[in-house]
Amino acid sequence: MRLGIDIGGTKTDAVALDETGRLAQRIRLATGFGSAAVVETAVSAVSRLGELTGLAASGFESIGIGIPGLVDSTSGHVAHAVNLGLDRLELGGELAGRLGVGVRIENDVKAAALGAWHLMGLTGTLAYLNLGTGLAAGLVVDGRVWRGSRGIAGEIGHIPVDPNGALCACGQRGCLETVASGSGIARQWRTDDPLPVRALFAAAADGDEEARAIKARLAAGIASAVRVLVLTVDVETVVIGGGLSHLGDRLLCDVHEVLASWAQASPFLASLALPDRVRLVPEGSLAAAIGAALVGEN
Ligand SMILES: [Zn+2]
Repeated sequence: MRLGIDIGGTKTDAVALDETGRLAQRIRLATGFGSAAVVETAVSAVSRLGELTGLAASGFESIGIGIPGLVDSTSGHVAHAVNLGLDRLELGGELAGRLGVGVRIENDVKAAALGAWHLMGLTGTLAYLNLGTGLAAGLVVDGRVWRGSRGIAGEIGHIPVDPNGALCACGQRGCLETVASGSGIARQWRTDDPLPVRALFAAAADGDEEARAIKARLAAGIASAVRVLVLTVDVETVVIGGGLSHLGDRLLCDVHEVLASWAQASPFLASLALPDRVRLVPEGSLAAAIGAALVGEN
């Protein structure tokens, strides 16, 4: 069996996959805050799945972890995982010491890309477009995560699209992430709703002009991300995941509308069949945890 752990900002999902790659066990834990607590959360997940499967840590064929932040998948070093309260952590080394076996560490979006490719039964190249607090994509080429030379491949949230746009946390102005992400929506649409995008869609449905404009910029930003991914990597499929994907078809329809309008204006874009390439990740699919289990394999 392979074990995969997806360490998120508030919760941690862990899965055990059987030898055919099917989901055998799954658990969910609260994620601790800070380096020591994050290590402890991962150790607890391994031990809980060990109890459920009757395997010691060394009994799993591989153990992989998906975690936000800048991840060096070779050394297991994690940096800038702000939501987890850790600046720098030798997660791979720490866990190897605690568990007595090697553990593969991967960026959570890259892990989710591999997980989506596997669980959706896709062939060909894939981009997993994660619309969470930020915007980033994970790439799967020839069935493997494509990291690029320094692990930056797919960080398209920081492609500036509007020179007069809002200042981004990265120091540039008008990045895709400032209009097409959870943080981008929260900045533009002030609300008490814990899910600002839900409030935004409700206000837009009620005819609020500002809400409709923000919602339109969101759809155009996501469509731009799809276009960038197809024009640079010619991915066969763009799977949309992350928190905003819970909007489901309401979001997908908006994006399709933008892509269709571009196709009307440009025979070149029409020839790329962009709307046909976009899909939503299945709700509750644990793509990142499943992908984390599989990164140990390649
Ligand atoms: Zn940026």
